[in-house]
Amino acid sequence: MEEKEMTTVEPVEETAAAEEAAPVEAAPVEAAPAEEAAPASAPAPAAAPKKPLKRMQRRKVCTFCVEKVAFIDYKDINKLKKFITEKGKILPRRMTGVCSEHQRHLSEAVKKARIMALLPFKGE
Ligand SMILES: [Zn+2]
Repeated sequence: MEEKEMTTVEPVEETAAAEEAAPVEAAPVEAAPAEEAAPASAPAPAAAPKKPLKRMQRRKVCTFCVEKVAFIDYKDINKLKKFITEKGKILPRRMTGVCSEHQRHLSEAVKKARIMALLPFKGE
């Protein structure tokens, strides 16, 4: 339990570095490993759930707050692309970890970029 806190404190840097190397669309989204149901062989695990808690919830930090971005530029499509799906939809805050204020700016920027035909409205 103590070392859980140690590991949770390194949130954004590694994703930022990883995205430079390999451009993946939905990079900030962490894939939830499929949790299996209670093993059928175990006799009544009601009292003590002995599941290994592998899924550490790392605290997401708003990328824009870290970089102290006051204004999100709609022309900066490489940055905006990290916050939209491959279909062009804006990713929800719960996936990206963007704070509410920056999410508002971000959605405005994405919508402007769509109008300027920098980003797709739909599909691709
Ligand atoms: Zn923010």
